[in-house]
Amino acid sequence: MHATLRRFVAASLLCFSVCCSAEVTRQRLTAADTEPDQWLSHGRNYAEDRESPLQQIDRGNVATLGLAWSFDTSTHRGLEASPLVIDGVIYTTGSWSRVYAISAANGEQIWSYDPEVPRSWGVNACCDVVNRGVAAWGDKVYVGTLDGRLVALDRTTGAPVWQTLTIDQTRPYTITGAPRAINGKIMIGNGGAEYGVRGYISAYDADTGAQVWRFYTVPGSPALPPESAAMKMAAKTWRGDVFYQVGGGGTVWDSMAYDPVLNLLYFGVGNGSPWNRHIRSPGGGDNLFLSSIVAVNADTGEYAWHYQTTPADTWDYTATQHIILADLTIDGEQRKVLMQAPKNGFFYVLDRETGKLISAEKYTKASWASHVDLATGRPVETSNADHITKTQMTGPAPSGGHNWQPMAFNQSQALVYIPAMESIAPYSTGKDFQYSPGGHWNLGQNDNNENSATMTSIPPALMRAVMQRIMKGRLIAWDPVAQTERWRVEHPTMWNGGVLTTKTGLVFQGTGDGRLVAYDAANGEVLWQTETGTGIIAPPISFALEGTQYISVMAGWGGVVGLMLNLPQSASAGTGRLLTYRLGGTATLPTNTISRTLPEPPDQLGSDATIGHGANLYNVHCMRCHGAGLQSGGLVADLRYMSPESHKQFKNIVLGGVLSSVGMVSFADQIDANDADAIHSYIISAAHLQWQEDNAAPWWKAIKSEFYDAFAYLVVFFGFSS
Ligand code: CA
Repeated sequence: MHATLRRFVAASLLCFSVCCSAEVTRQRLTAADTEPDQWLSHGRNYAEDRESPLQQIDRGNVATLGLAWSFDTSTHRGLEASPLVIDGVIYTTGSWSRVYAISAANGEQIWSYDPEVPRSWGVNACCDVVNRGVAAWGDKVYVGTLDGRLVALDRTTGAPVWQTLTIDQTRPYTITGAPRAINGKIMIGNGGAEYGVRGYISAYDADTGAQVWRFYTVPGSPALPPESAAMKMAAKTWRGDVFYQVGGGGTVWDSMAYDPVLNLLYFGVGNGSPWNRHIRSPGGGDNLFLSSIVAVNADTGEYAWHYQTTPADTWDYTATQHIILADLTIDGEQRKVLMQAPKNGFFYVLDRETGKLISAEKYTKASWASHVDLATGRPVETSNADHITKTQMTGPAPSGGHNWQPMAFNQSQALVYIPAMESIAPYSTGKDFQYSPGGHWNLGQNDNNENSATMTSIPPALMRAVMQRIMKGRLIAWDPVAQTERWRVEHPTMWNGGVLTTKTGLVFQGTGDGRLVAYDAANGEVLWQTETGTGIIAPPISFALEGTQYISVMAGWGGVVGLMLNLPQSASAGTGRLLTYRLGGTATLPTNTISRTLPEPPDQLGSDATIGHGANLYNVHCMRCHGAGLQSGGLVADLRYMSPESHKQFKNIVLGGVLSSVGMVSFADQIDANDADAIHSYIISAAHLQWQEDNAAPWWKAIKSEFYDAFAYLVVFFGFSS
């Protein structure tokens, strides 16, 4: 062969092996289990089972795991991403939809990309400014941004290649979920159903960003003909037109899975806008496709089947929770199944070819329904379910028996590991519902809580003691064939991390109290654990590089419960980090805890009635970011710690919007100057309560702590034992 030609062929082959072998293709994604070193897509494979086939770390040696390296994002909001690992590079995301490419070998940043989401968009995010990761296809990675864009980035440089606006930015849509890449298309949905939007999922061309198809999950204007056969079917299950004004909801904000043989894309659909069914659809109806699992043709978006977990949902029981595909032997027959543990408390096993229900049993306490009727496939509601005439405590709470934190399915154990919760909450039907557009919640529940005034005098430590007894978190090993629990581990907090399992019989989970733990997949025995310095909510992943297996997890406290409840163990949450472990790792974890001292609060302002009114307004407008009882844990400004200058500027901030560039937008369209004063009074009163607690003598603190614990026990025993 001619020398020049030979060099050309050699160079081409080199280019092929270096550049082109790294392309993420349909072939690689459908055969992800043959590349155990990588983590190519959100749930590791299209079945999203989150079971690593790697063999190096096992039950015998896991106790010698140690930190290999850590990467600091220098951010203080929740981290929920599942990192991807492709040919030695980790691609992950952090708060405000930032993307990071990090060397898997040593944790050094290769590039980062900041989509510069306007901070004022944060008010549209129900559940923190989080992001659950990127998708990879070809030579690009794809991120959905909080303000509704889908952005394609060059995987080598992080440079944007294209971006597409996926939403109508006049409505409060957000994207927090990870896109999925299937057959040259990028699928993404969105969130916003607490505020009021119409849900859908779309597919975009991976090369150009052009929209290929869109599937709406709830009907559009009742005055117009339905857009598709699926919408024609759905429209028959809705009444009135309030839902269209508010949006109807049904957002596809997280889960997807894909069966390449059936070419079906499965996705989970969320709650309605507004929550309350009597307001949303007066006169009844199932309100398709709320709280449903829907299967569509991945190439065309054409409807294949649906299963509605919670017809006429009124409790925020989304079916957007993690979906796992598996082949199970049930009654002696091999079945292609789909499994989900949605918020409503039941574990579902469906036939994924037809959508037919195989079985459903409770995996946690659920008072709204007694059971699921296998003949009709419908839940049987109890007398505790409805609240049109009275407010009732019903479980699970809106945070769900299980939220977005991914489960994992271990094939040899035949067990699903669920990051589960047990909780209850008050539900009601709001009087004189008025739709409030923009960044405001529209639940259709009673906003006015007559108990607000009494609640303001409860010591913060007592509130935490009671909440910890009502809201519980645990890891459950669930047998999906027998539909029974095999083992459980109780956690100190309700809000914990997603799950990873390995073929070697391990289960990894981070906890809200700041640990990463390895369990024996067979019985839940703790085989290893380490302190992580901040509460973990993200799921761990595993990958290998040059023969060494690693476990990696995003450690950053936050998310919907992280913002609302300041749980004592994670109160001093530090900056968010990517932590990576290997056998014999010896790196030390840099400390990064925030220490805060409460400044002496200004003099009390206003009467008890004013403080109560302020508390009520705070709970409606401020609590979901600044925390219940003003205990935000420092993720978003803890208002009890306001500086004297902020106290002076209070009305300029709340009504004038002077801090909107950092996310604190004006609420002048919702409250007036008197209301702002009342909220200010409540904040000062809460600061005084905390000041007294912080400055009490140690012996008095100890006695009180015992008393609070006993009191909390009695409250729960007599108040909520059912
Ligand atoms: Ca919701």
